[in-house]
Amino acid sequence: MGQISTNVNKSIKDKNNTTQLALTKNRKKYSSGGRVVSTFKKVLVVDDNIINRRLLEKILQDQYTVIQANNGQEALDVLLAEEHEISVVLLDIVMPVMDGYEFLAKRQEDSKISNIPVVVTTQKEGEASEIKALKLGANDFLPKPYNGEIIKHRLANIITLRESAAFLRTIEHDELTGVYSKNFFYKKVSEVLREHPHKEYDIIVSDIVNFKLINDTYGTKIGDNLLCKMANIMSGLMSKTALCGRIGADFFAVLREHSDEYNEHIFAKADTELNSYPVEMNLTVRFGVYTLVDRKIEMGTICDRAVLAVESIKEAYGSYFAYYDDAIRQKLLKEQRINDSMEMALKNKEFVVYFQPKYNLRSENLAGAEALVRWLHPVNGIIYPNDFIPLFEKNGFITKLDSYVWEETCKIMRKWLDAGLPPISVSVNVSRIDVYNKELPKLLLDLTKKYGIATKYLHLEITETAYTENPNQIIDAVRHLSDAGFMIEMDDFGTGYSSLNMLSDLPIDILKLDMKFIKNEMQKNGSKNILSFIISLAKWLGLLVIAEGVETREQIERLHSMDCNYVQGYYYARPMPEKEFVALIEKSVVEKEMRRPACIIPTEQVKVRKNVRHEDVMLLVDDVELNRAILAEVFKNDYTIVEADNGITALKYLRENLSKVKIVLLDLIMPIMDGFEVLSKMKASQKLKLVPVIVTSQTGAEMEIKALCMGADDFIGKPYVEQLCRKRVENVMAAVSKNKQINQSSKKCIF
Ligand code: C2E
Ligand code: CA
Ligand code: CA
Repeated sequence: MGQISTNVNKSIKDKNNTTQLALTKNRKKYSSGGRVVSTFKKVLVVDDNIINRRLLEKILQDQYTVIQANNGQEALDVLLAEEHEISVVLLDIVMPVMDGYEFLAKRQEDSKISNIPVVVTTQKEGEASEIKALKLGANDFLPKPYNGEIIKHRLANIITLRESAAFLRTIEHDELTGVYSKNFFYKKVSEVLREHPHKEYDIIVSDIVNFKLINDTYGTKIGDNLLCKMANIMSGLMSKTALCGRIGADFFAVLREHSDEYNEHIFAKADTELNSYPVEMNLTVRFGVYTLVDRKIEMGTICDRAVLAVESIKEAYGSYFAYYDDAIRQKLLKEQRINDSMEMALKNKEFVVYFQPKYNLRSENLAGAEALVRWLHPVNGIIYPNDFIPLFEKNGFITKLDSYVWEETCKIMRKWLDAGLPPISVSVNVSRIDVYNKELPKLLLDLTKKYGIATKYLHLEITETAYTENPNQIIDAVRHLSDAGFMIEMDDFGTGYSSLNMLSDLPIDILKLDMKFIKNEMQKNGSKNILSFIISLAKWLGLLVIAEGVETREQIERLHSMDCNYVQGYYYARPMPEKEFVALIEKSVVEKEMRRPACIIPTEQVKVRKNVRHEDVMLLVDDVELNRAILAEVFKNDYTIVEADNGITALKYLRENLSKVKIVLLDLIMPIMDGFEVLSKMKASQKLKLVPVIVTSQTGAEMEIKALCMGADDFIGKPYVEQLCRKRVENVMAAVSKNKQINQSSKKCIF
């Protein structure tokens, strides 16, 4: 590189202001630390002939910084070292070491320098050499001998051209991923469509599900890398000729020729590819396909449709792509119609409250109702809440509708009372958006005052997921409502993820088990104990339990055995118009109010299943009858089974029948006196502590450890596995008899 002379035109620095002004077209001057620095654009002159180089330098020096190189190789070195600095290269063809053609070829191969313009200087107008140079990517020619004005002109043009191209690139391309920017993608697509009016095309949009979460969890750097990878996948996914653009934060779009052969496999492959990212993230990508049928539709709308197709399967497990189809279009149109007509519908009183009765499971008395809204549309007939509530929750109209439903409900309750009907509890649904309204307690209190309804008769159903979304804020708000005297029902329990521990801190009175939850539990064989566990836990916390969506006698019976308090479902009645419900109240025995159990009265008697062959007693202590029944069935041939549904009765029986009881199976979670308390009382007593105890509970290491530390002999997890139950009991009994032998022989030793 020693031979390369960098000649910054020194005279320029001494020039007066007027000369400088004349030159500002091609350079900027700025002061840095007091030093005046020339920022002339740089021209690289490549020629083995020093006279030619000097000549060019002379011509250009008042406007450019001229850098010189002796041959192609030197020129390449300069370019690679200063790729962003050189504005244009003036290139001779015939040179030693590396000639002009070879230089051009090398430049073309390297994407870093391939877009630096090259002007070839030719000795004579040799057409063949020009064509060869053009093929190798040269941008222009300068004939020798040089004409200063022509040269300056050509260079200025070429530089402007290149700079505007570079600028265009930045607006045409997404800076991060390099694919087309949204607007440019739209433009390009429109061009393609115009050029090929008879070809059919598809737009495919990809969406990384929960991308925001990835950014939040792993940081934007990883998020950015992921987007680049996704852009890559999309660019290569369909075909090399497809256009690819970034049309939203994590949405990419591809335009390609129409195909009838999309399948899950193609898209699943893309999903797998994205998931090969070094960090284990469990990403999901979904694709939406829109076939361009109507070319008059705006590009934005076209992409929106593909996005809608993606969104239609956002939560669908195992399905990677969806078409924008008529169903989606119809849905949108329907939503649009609802949006346009909801305000008027409210004014016209098209929203009507229906009532679905709730029954006390034990007495089968009518215990209350849930107010459920219906839209009685003058043209479309009855519209059900699932078709408009989610939309209203999105567009905010739900707060208006809910206030309306609450007021209608209070009005109707007043009417019933005035007509001499017995007071009856009615629950209304409270959306999560309502709960965020600070004025909510006042609003509801004003309503109950206005219509003279005791707050304890108005139940508020708040969905479980609201609590988990923003626990502290919701809990505070709900506490205010609870303090005001309203009964709080946790709706859809089992669909959210509230931990069971959290339940005890929540200001709720009633747990409303979601219908899906109940159906699942009933279907799965053997896991019904989870349901019974939740019911017993709720009771332990002093909560009432309503099972929702009860449709069969079988479900009723199982819920009965689990000691569920209330039921609501098609088995008894569907939601009905007010008139029908009044008729129902009139012919029913109405429960006065739903009250949280102040205390559960334990059964004082144990239940004995005598076994004539075995007088040894196994004492089963569990508040849930079904749990006792399962264990009784397992051990009925080995013991006389005695059942107690609470700790107090169990202890009493133990004290009175100590010699008969060989083993106790003790549930840990029970109302009034839980298993831990029973265990600690047993271990505190000289006599009772010798009786072996196996504790039973939902599997949970914490409880198990605590019980074992307190002196339990073993633990059996629920749901029960018969063989395991047998084995544990056998082991404990064997250990006890071994201990006895040891004790006896050691006694023998002492005496
Ligand atoms: P939800 O609060 O869980 O209400 C129970 C839904 O289950 C009701 O549907 C009811 O008709 C239905 N249902 C009752 N028993 C059975 C059964 O045995 N089997 C089956 N398959 N379904 C049963 P509906 O009335 O269509 O209401 C749907 C949802 O719309 C409600 O779910 C609630 O979230 C919402 N909703 C209804 N009215 C209002 C309202 O006034 N305000 C608000 N914010 N939401 C409401
Ligand atoms: Ca509800
Ligand atoms: Ca519900």
